[in-house]
Amino acid sequence: MQERAWMASARCRSFPPIFFFPQDGAGVTVAMRACTSCPVKEECLEHALAKGIDHGVWGGASERQRRRIRVARESTRAQVIAL
Ligand code: SF4
Repeated sequence: MQERAWMASARCRSFPPIFFFPQDGAGVTVAMRACTSCPVKEECLEHALAKGIDHGVWGGASERQRRRIRVARESTRAQVIAL
């Protein structure tokens, strides 16, 4: 439960959940904009990355952006291990 304490400060608490699961690029842009001023943006993004959440906008990042972050982190981790 403590792990999700940040959700109490989420800006999107006043939005319908469907808002952050848009069906097109325009909807993604609008949702990402709503995340811009969220006080728990970083926590939200890390939660989505840690849980492997593929759908929706989390932490101001689209599905594609989170995939890129995951790939970049895995690549960095592999390079560190190879050293
Ligand atoms: S960053 Fe966006 S999706 Fe995450 S809690 Fe804040 S408003 Fe909601």
